[in-house]
Amino acid sequence: MFEKIMELALKRGFLIQSAEVYNAPAGFYDFGPVGTALKRKIQEAWRNQFIRREGNLEIETCAILPEIVLKASGHVGCFADPLVECIKCAKKHRADELIRNYLGKNKEELKKKNPKALELKTEGMNAEQLTKTITELGITCECGGKLNEAKPFNLMFKTNIGAAEGNTAYTRPETAQGIFLDFQRVFKAHGAKLPMGIAQIGRSFRNEISPRQGLLRLREFTQMELEYFFDPQNQKHLKFKEVENEEIKLYTREEQMKNSEKETRITARELVEKKIVPNEIMAYFLVREKQFYDAMGVKKHRIRHMLAEETPHYSGGNFDVEVETSYGWIETVGTAYRTDYDLKSHAQASKKELSVFIEERKEKIIPHVVEPSFGVDRLFWCVLEAAYRQANKEQGKEWDWFDFPTSISPIDVAVFPLMKKDGMPEKAREIEKTLREEGLDVLYDESGSVGKRYARMDEVGTPYCITVDYETKETGEVTIRFRNDGKQIKVKISEIARTIKKCIKEGKVSV
Ligand code: AMP
Repeated sequence: MFEKIMELALKRGFLIQSAEVYNAPAGFYDFGPVGTALKRKIQEAWRNQFIRREGNLEIETCAILPEIVLKASGHVGCFADPLVECIKCAKKHRADELIRNYLGKNKEELKKKNPKALELKTEGMNAEQLTKTITELGITCECGGKLNEAKPFNLMFKTNIGAAEGNTAYTRPETAQGIFLDFQRVFKAHGAKLPMGIAQIGRSFRNEISPRQGLLRLREFTQMELEYFFDPQNQKHLKFKEVENEEIKLYTREEQMKNSEKETRITARELVEKKIVPNEIMAYFLVREKQFYDAMGVKKHRIRHMLAEETPHYSGGNFDVEVETSYGWIETVGTAYRTDYDLKSHAQASKKELSVFIEERKEKIIPHVVEPSFGVDRLFWCVLEAAYRQANKEQGKEWDWFDFPTSISPIDVAVFPLMKKDGMPEKAREIEKTLREEGLDVLYDESGSVGKRYARMDEVGTPYCITVDYETKETGEVTIRFRNDGKQIKVKISEIARTIKKCIKEGKVSV
């Protein structure tokens, strides 16, 4: 399935391999026109839910950071994946991934010969344990060569600021650090009261050892991160009542340890009462994340409680939104209770005051933080997979197509003249202009048969196609064809914009 979706995404310009003509390195993708539109709409939907509706603040910070910042945050020391190299062909592999792939590929054989091996969890293993596991299982490179010892490989891209040597800097591995650095200024300029949510949408960079799986492991990608700063003595969320009875599908630590895939349906209130999450704030965001994924049309998701050995030492709890894709379950959102770790570390390293004053208690504190961290590219891929529909002649579709939610379809509406004569193109152009002025994303197309034009629009998931035909001149009406059932209705020209906007709002994709 992956190949078919990727083929359609490349053909229709959702995605373009970066520097394709030079066979550039893996892990970099450009977004073509429809891909950019889809990505922009996903980001806009996130902005609406996680910034505007919540009254949070948005900032934009620099992607290049001096070494001192990333030393303080722990990234220079610890932001690494375990690397092993083949002694024979020098190919480099990510050690934990190599083991997981080996276990997956040799499942049946291991069931008979070494069933204990199937219970192995690479999460939290250090370099020494990984090396020992590789040796014990007899894992080699594809070329048959032996592998050397696992070593940490730092994932940050290094650079130097200015002409003088010695000013080491890195491209940021997450957008969050810029938010911590700017926190004091934003706090003071915006009411100086907790809680305060500060968000950012921007590029992050990780020099992944083996980028693969299309958009799922990139070296340059976009994150949408929210840092929610609060007083640790008040871990309630003002809007918790709105979500307390909402259910999420939890993948508990116990089930993971048993290698079972069982999910537990649990409400936000139960999550708090049973102390599975550290506080109401975490439960609140987990529900909002679930709701956001549903709105994007991505329904096969669960919330995984990160195992203790994977959770950073300073964290008060980590939960991932995982989505089932053609690659299996993948993490697409990380939600972490980062406590006061980042602000404290930057305060110590910079020797600057990063605490805030709590008026009611006349006390200075360092705020705590809960962070929902979304990767746009992974979500983008999940949206493509969830919306992908294969050709089905009985349903009148001889081509593969995308069933995007109307709120994020790259093109809202296409306008066609039936023929390139008798005033039809002029009328269609007029309609195109009006709809653009109404703020809709419109495409005008007059090439090829109408059937072919419908097919092209289905391939990019356009929900509505308007055709100006011979009758339009006499009746003042056009046809609107709906994407999912291919059926049509007639509408007066003066009513088109209102009708389309109403349909988008209601998510109507069939007559
Ligand atoms: P993390 O800080 O590793 O928890 O990452 C937060 C989110 O960023 C993940 O849930 C992903 O959606 C996204 N992400 C992290 N690494 C990559 C990558 N190499 N390529 C694409 N997205 C990524």
